[in-house]
Amino acid sequence: MSLLELEEVNSYYGESHILRDVTMEVEEGQIIALLGRNGAGKTTTLRSITGTEPPEVRSGTVRFDGTDITGRPPEDISAHGLSLVPEERRMFSNLTVAENLHVPDISQNLLNRIGRSAETGKTGISDEEVYEQFPRLDERREQKAGTLSGGEQQMLAIARTLKQDTELLMLDEPSEGLAPQIVQDVLDIIEEIADQGKTILLVEQNAAAAIKLADYCYVLDQGTVVYQGTAEELEANDEVRQEYLGV
Ligand code: ATP
Repeated sequence: MSLLELEEVNSYYGESHILRDVTMEVEEGQIIALLGRNGAGKTTTLRSITGTEPPEVRSGTVRFDGTDITGRPPEDISAHGLSLVPEERRMFSNLTVAENLHVPDISQNLLNRIGRSAETGKTGISDEEVYEQFPRLDERREQKAGTLSGGEQQMLAIARTLKQDTELLMLDEPSEGLAPQIVQDVLDIIEEIADQGKTILLVEQNAAAAIKLADYCYVLDQGTVVYQGTAEELEANDEVRQEYLGV
């Protein structure tokens, strides 16, 4: 059984039908890349998984670890161990790195207080483990997040997510807007996290880099899965890469 399965998912923004019968499987312990041009429906796929609205999933099923999670509210989804690092990174610019890392603890406490402790009481790695894995954040504990470089902000966004109990980490364009040498640092971190046993669903514009990292790839075009295969197969398939990925 796959850790995450989408079965013929159809998602809409109002009347616009965006995802059309999207079927995907994410195997435990793998890095799965979800690729495609601007507007292909990658972010919409992630949102259809996390329950973030819009879009609305009107038909089809999203299953995590065998449980049907279709249409559940985002806090229920994250309680199951799915976390999304969104494209816009969303940090508190006026808070320091250390304070930003406490935000998951604070939101956890709030959830506990409103009685969601049963499933959500679990936590991920500790601050010290975060700083060990992200030396750049360690050096900048007291620096305001808004003054971090793009790559450091991306690392902080990923680190914050790891503080939650995450089994499946979804990343929406982690290399977006980063200088090339920093892109590699961020990709190395993603690989390290995968080596530690987490499953990763990676959305990337930077298809060449994502293919290098991934075990298995899905290519979306106009809301439809037009190709799926191992990273090696996609690497060898010039036609698909040129037609849908422009690489
Ligand atoms: P990008 O890399 O540009 O983010 P993407 O593959 O992630 O591309 P999506 O953001 O999923 O693409 O967008 C898929 C389609 O849905 C696009 O045509 C987009 O215009 C449309 N869309 C996205 N968000 C909304 C929204 N909130 N309301 C209406 N349409 C939307």
